[in-house]
Amino acid sequence: MTLILGLEGTAWNLSAALVSEAKTICEAESTYKPLHGGIHPREAAQHHASEIKNVVSRVFRGAEAEERGFSLDSIDAIAFSQGPGMGPCLRTVATAARALAISLKIPLVGVNHCIAHIEIGRWRCETKDPVVLYVSGANSQVLAYRAGKYRILGETLDIGVGNALDKFARYLGLSHPGGPKIEELAYKGTEYVYMPYVIKGMDLSFSGLTTAAKDAINVHRHKTEDVCYSFQETAFAMLTEVTERAMAHLGKDEMLLAGGVGANRRLQQMLQTMCHDREAKFYVPETKYLKDNGTMIAYLGLLHYKTGDTTPIDKSAVKPNYRPDEVEVTWREQEQK
Ligand code: AMP
Ligand code: MG
Repeated sequence: MTLILGLEGTAWNLSAALVSEAKTICEAESTYKPLHGGIHPREAAQHHASEIKNVVSRVFRGAEAEERGFSLDSIDAIAFSQGPGMGPCLRTVATAARALAISLKIPLVGVNHCIAHIEIGRWRCETKDPVVLYVSGANSQVLAYRAGKYRILGETLDIGVGNALDKFARYLGLSHPGGPKIEELAYKGTEYVYMPYVIKGMDLSFSGLTTAAKDAINVHRHKTEDVCYSFQETAFAMLTEVTERAMAHLGKDEMLLAGGVGANRRLQQMLQTMCHDREAKFYVPETKYLKDNGTMIAYLGLLHYKTGDTTPIDKSAVKPNYRPDEVEVTWREQEQK
């Protein structure tokens, strides 16, 4: 049995987890909550630095870890999010990962956070070769596997859809994270208000939506609920359109939703309808695996480790702009053999 400890801390959620091939999962987390405004990278990093010892010890106090007598000495490798993410947060967690790997004399595995979202979805949903819509605070991408890499078929040209929702929510005086609060308000909306629908080729743009939503309230005096409803309908229709085009081009009949915004029921419903209409299968993992979590980092670390792909300390610098198509996906070649 191989046991991997995974550390996630790219943004506001610090999380550690133990994962093995036998699907052992123990996870503990601690979330930084901004007092006002959005996530402040340095404050989030300070939160991670002060909490990491506690979070790692709590993983080993999980029921399954205790029952099976797991301790730090049982681990085969330490996986950590090498990027993308906020520099100060990434550096704090990478430092802890290096310190653990060196003191325990075990390998380090730097993983790509976006691919971790994809792989945990494939694992939990048992889907083989889906087109993936990955939507989180900072990222919005449509991806699919081809010839050894996850290719980015379409992506946002400015901010992620989660950030666009969070910014508008902040304008309404709602606390972070704003996405779920906008969702609740949107259900009470009845009238569609015009919003910019911006798709360029396969790419998307969301920042104009936030501006238009603010104006719809401030200048045009529309009801907040109607604006939330219109914001969601527009942003999610854009995402659904690009995902569908990717499926059509590639001839794929599976679709996987990943990332924190994936928890939104209206987005799920639109994608489900699109998949149903083209006789494709729609998959979404449990909500706790949509948001950032240590389990996905440990699990992707396990996949890398099993193909002998570990990260020497001198190659373990964080990559705040790490793109998923930079990663050689060695484990899927093995799957196909
Ligand atoms: P992540 O970066 O993957 O942890 O996702 C966090 C983002 O997901 C934040 O921007 C949240 O506002 C957003 N989010 C979480 N739940 C929902 C929801 N139900 N509807 C829309 N956005 C959401
Ligand atoms: Mg994420």
